Amino acid sequence: MNIQRNIAALDAAKESVVAASNAKDHFLATLSHELRTPLTPVLTTIETLELDGNLTKSQQSAVGIIRRNIELEARLIDDLLDFTRVTRGKVHLIQRHTEINALIANVLEICRKEIVSKRIDVRLDLIAGEIYTYADPARLQQVFWNIILNGVKFSPTGSVMTISTRSPRPDNLLVEFADNGIGIEPDHLETIFQPFEQGDSIITQQFGGLGLGLAISKMLVDLHGGTLIASSQGRDSGSVFQVSLNRIPAPSRSS
Ligand code: ADP
Repeated sequence: MNIQRNIAALDAAKESVVAASNAKDHFLATLSHELRTPLTPVLTTIETLELDGNLTKSQQSAVGIIRRNIELEARLIDDLLDFTRVTRGKVHLIQRHTEINALIANVLEICRKEIVSKRIDVRLDLIAGEIYTYADPARLQQVFWNIILNGVKFSPTGSVMTISTRSPRPDNLLVEFADNGIGIEPDHLETIFQPFEQGDSIITQQFGGLGLGLAISKMLVDLHGGTLIASSQGRDSGSVFQVSLNRIPAPSRSS
């Protein structure tokens, strides 16, 4: 009798935990949507203002400060929105044959401003030719973008980042991002993939961010049937992020 009562109590507790978690997800999704919506017209207006040739130097600089900060805020809220979408199962991959070398080149182009402003020397060590995986290119691009921007953010000016690809087996593809930055303590190597976790908070708090980029990236790589892992020899020893994906043959030219 007691056992049955305990099982019923456990079931009730589980139900209320699930309900609370759903309510939290719903709250986060609604909140981030409501916070994000007003930023779009603000950004459009700022872009128009920046094109106004009549602004004085100090007005231009003020508009620049407003734009950079609104963009930063928009990026944080976009992460929150994305995180709630993935956890609620609302992300549906649109997968197709995706060529990895072209994808990496594309992401580097998108991150060019940040790479140049920190004078990061990006070295490529890629498998020659075309290598394919079956993926949603926009989502995989988002993963690489996150890892590269973190590498830039957590590395000193003028340091080296190496991006390499390997194919240990014909059906496997590894994409590796190695930086010479602040590194990751062994205790944090797993937790950095959890939402809102920021490794050594004293060090990383000064860099800003919500601690969602890697959680989102890992969930996206998981959705692709791949893995995302981090390794580091510890503080100031740099970090390596490795994405493992299925490698597939190139599409036939007739298809
Ligand atoms: P955020 O960058 O917003 O803090 P992420 O989820 O992208 O969130 O990263 C989580 C944490 O992982 C970071 O706060 C940092 O502690 C650690 N981290 C991520 N990338 C690197 C890197 N390349 N070098 C050192 N630490 C990193």
